[in-house]
Amino acid sequence: MIAECTHILPTGKKCLQFALRGQPFCRPHMDPERRRHSEALHYLIDGIATLDLDALLEALIGLVEARRRKQIPPSHANAAFVAALDRLEVLRAVMHPEMAPEPATPSATNTSGGVQWNQTLPAARL
Ligand SMILES: [Zn+2]
Repeated sequence: MIAECTHILPTGKKCLQFALRGQPFCRPHMDPERRRHSEALHYLIDGIATLDLDALLEALIGLVEARRRKQIPPSHANAAFVAALDRLEVLRAVMHPEMAPEPATPSATNTSGGVQWNQTLPAARL
């Protein structure tokens, strides 16, 4: 029987790759630095869900700066931006219940013409 990787992705889901023979992780997650980044992102995403508007704006500024300096990979930045947008939707619904979103697809809410929020995130190897 082939074992699966035991790493938990930033999304909270388990990695679905096969583990290397006799190892707990798949090839990408054998890298401890990669696992550390993934865990840090997991905590960041969890933390974003608790922020108030001011703290969320600070976090977004920090994320943009970190991405601009290439301190975090695009896939991690995308995951954090998606979490931040989810949080903004929640905060907006609290402040303006009349503006609560329809159950919309992310592409339907992207009217900025700039950043594409509906990019598909990689399912694994974050
Ligand atoms: Zn893995």
